[in-house]
Amino acid sequence: MIDFSLSDEQKQLQDLARKFAKDEIIPRAAHHDKTGEYPKEIATKAWELGIMNTHIPEAYGGMGLGVLEGCIITEELAYGCTGIATAMEANTLAAAPIVVAGNDEQKKEFLGALTAAPKFAAYCVTEPGAGSDVSGIRTLAKKEAGDYVINGSKMWITNASVADWYFVLAYTDPTLKHKGMTGFVVPAKTPGITVGKKEWNMGQRASDTRGITFDNVRIPERYRLGKEGEGFKIAMSAFDHTRPAVSAGAVGLGRRAMDEAVQYAQSRKAFGQPISAFQAVSFMIADMAKDIEAARMLVYKAAWTIDSGERNTKFAAMAKAFCADMAMKVTTDAVQVFGGYGYSEEYPVEKLMRDAKIYQIYEGTSQIQRLIIAKEIFDRA
Ligand SMILES: Cc1cc2nc3c(=O)[nH]c(=O)nc-3n(C[C@H](O)[C@H](O)[C@H](O)COP(=O)(O)OP(=O)(O)OC[C@H]3O[C@@H](n4cnc5c(N)ncnc54)[C@H](O)[C@@H]3O)c2cc1C
Repeated sequence: MIDFSLSDEQKQLQDLARKFAKDEIIPRAAHHDKTGEYPKEIATKAWELGIMNTHIPEAYGGMGLGVLEGCIITEELAYGCTGIATAMEANTLAAAPIVVAGNDEQKKEFLGALTAAPKFAAYCVTEPGAGSDVSGIRTLAKKEAGDYVINGSKMWITNASVADWYFVLAYTDPTLKHKGMTGFVVPAKTPGITVGKKEWNMGQRASDTRGITFDNVRIPERYRLGKEGEGFKIAMSAFDHTRPAVSAGAVGLGRRAMDEAVQYAQSRKAFGQPISAFQAVSFMIADMAKDIEAARMLVYKAAWTIDSGERNTKFAAMAKAFCADMAMKVTTDAVQVFGGYGYSEEYPVEKLMRDAKIYQIYEGTSQIQRLIIAKEIFDRA
């Protein structure tokens, strides 16, 4: 049986996040976009309210909620500002490898740290020379007297400067390609770590993105996640948990752009009538509405599938590609509805369009999502 309604608990979470976005995020979004200041105060309030780290099991101080609940919250936060939502969401991505593969001690130490205080973490896979092609990473972790010594450089790491710990993917045996990669948790204060300058990106400027260099960074063996050689699998399976929520962020962004466009189309007059009376304009908005709705359904399907204990890789990739492309189109059309004013910083839609672009790039580009979908179709047929 199919039931499209949310439970009372889910509705309460939605209301809580929606109110938080209205009261705390929307009034500060333009400031963080202009200055690039990290939204620590806002994230701290969200942590206090209990809408961060919702996926962390109760045994480690979290709420133990499903991926679907995370998506419901993220859509609302992203409606307020996707840059601020991404700054919070980065914790979920960093924690996912530990949720998937960490042992009890690692979960207590690192997931427990995120629930005990408003702290941050980061997921470090991408490097200056390797993004989509993860096998091209060059970071090495060499075993030495019972420890691992890590050397290499990571790039585009969200939350790099505020994180307390990093999930780091490195080669322990480069001759084995994907099967020679291992995942580690590295406390940010470990000697040998240098965090670079903040990247001044096109959009989502509230989020903190930097390079990180690891120079003879020594960590104990107990910070290795799973076995040697399991790192690639762990790093990729984290995306099954996080791609639905990233996609939900794109839905929130699309919804916001549509609301702005609807409001403007009813108040702006041309040729003696509101521009909403022109079919060319109202059809753009009708397309926004149908694409947002379809996108949300894919998000819920991807989330529901993993929450039901089933493999969701295909649906997570579908949701990510569809929602990212939808957000780009809807925000571009919202700028079109605003005409010249849409192109100006005086109105919110130019920011929404800038913020949308990254959805087609991070957590796997739109091309890579199509590659995954095709692989799932042909290899698992
Ligand atoms: C703001 C921001 C935040 C980020 N946060 C993080 C983070 O927290 N942690 C992290 O590890 N990474 C992060 N990233 C990195 C992000 O995941 C990568 O940028 C992304 O995976 C693409 O890699 P790339 O930039 O090296 O592009 P490339 O891999 O060089 O791709 C360039 C182009 O080629 C296409 N392409 C590549 N291979 C194929 C193929 N096989 N088939 C078809 N097309 C292909 C791509 O789709 C893209 O259009 C972030 C990036 C940005 C910009």
